[in-house]
Amino acid sequence: MEEKDCIFCKIIRGEVPSQKLYEDDKVYAFRDINPVAPVHILIIPKKHIVGIQTLEEEDECLVGHMFTVAKKIAQQEGIAPDEDLNRGYRLVFNVGKDAGQTVFHLHLHLIGGRQMSWPPG
Ligand code: 5GP
Ligand code: ZN
Repeated sequence: MEEKDCIFCKIIRGEVPSQKLYEDDKVYAFRDINPVAPVHILIIPKKHIVGIQTLEEEDECLVGHMFTVAKKIAQQEGIAPDEDLNRGYRLVFNVGKDAGQTVFHLHLHLIGGRQMSWPPG
């Protein structure tokens, strides 16, 4: 999939509408169109990377930044754990088709606002 046809690249360029929550020079965060929980947000790099499966060492800082942004958004959304470690959220990369990846532009799922179970399906 080329950047030209990638749905998430189109969202970053504003060619496809999205509910934006955060943007800086490296990442973009928006609400998932098909939420699996009361809070379901996607954090994506502005650079088109297929997924963790093609991650290069030069992008390690970028992925770290995605986690920091996810943490801040979770706090804003009121789902971050309190001092007793109540509440909470899940951060997920689906890597490849067997793992459930359907969009091949790297994205970190931030999911929360309900009790979750383990293991995931
Ligand atoms: P994956 O299954 O690849 O890990 O996650 C892709 C996610 O992107 C899915 O949760 C799906 O609902 C979401 N998604 C796909 N297309 C769009 C879109 O056009 N807009 C938004 N906001 N989310 C999308
Ligand atoms: Zn893309």
